[in-house]
Amino acid sequence: MIYDTKNGELFITKHKSHKLEGMHSMSTSAKENPFCQKMKCHPNPDCVCRSCYAWTLESMRGRMRRRYASNGEILKRKLNESDIPIFGNNVKYLRNNAFGEFLNKTHYNNFLSIAEANPQVKMAIWTKRLDIVKEGTIVDWPNVRYIYSSPIKNKQSHLPKGFHHVFTVYTLDYRRAHPEVVLNCNAACASCLNCYDDVNFVEVFVNEPIR
Ligand code: SF4
Repeated sequence: MIYDTKNGELFITKHKSHKLEGMHSMSTSAKENPFCQKMKCHPNPDCVCRSCYAWTLESMRGRMRRRYASNGEILKRKLNESDIPIFGNNVKYLRNNAFGEFLNKTHYNNFLSIAEANPQVKMAIWTKRLDIVKEGTIVDWPNVRYIYSSPIKNKQSHLPKGFHHVFTVYTLDYRRAHPEVVLNCNAACASCLNCYDDVNFVEVFVNEPIR
């Protein structure tokens, strides 16, 4: 889905396969994001960003990278009111940052403006940028959920204040050595919705095998 804005075309992805099949997302490029570039070279070999799936896919699919990079250019500047997309009935759930991360505070504020204008759409933010999404800026709206993405593999982060979930990935070796780790991500968001909806809320700490 493409929405025309003053600065270009904002692209909303409808996923047709894999974990997000049936869901929508609003993404930006990981490869063009200075925070992601830094995290990709993180000195800790267990940093999950070193094996970022978005980075790999963007490297293989130039059109996808260009579209997400264009989204970043639009979203890092304040959206005019007339540029805020209003979603139709076909968009019920939207993941923010399926690829990429918040580029700056304005990007986060634009997301909130979009959420405010679309109260009928349940939206979930995946982020590692606690410096951008800080205490005091977190909204308590029924259609917005915050998921903190643990930066280190096999190491569950604490639940930040105001967040709903913590998402952590685990390697096979670690799980073999630690059978107490329970994998509870269903890898099919459209039928699970744990991270998107109060009604389907099951687990605060979500664990997934690394892809
Ligand atoms: S727990 Fe459910 S909603 Fe959350 S990421 Fe996994 S499949 Fe998606």
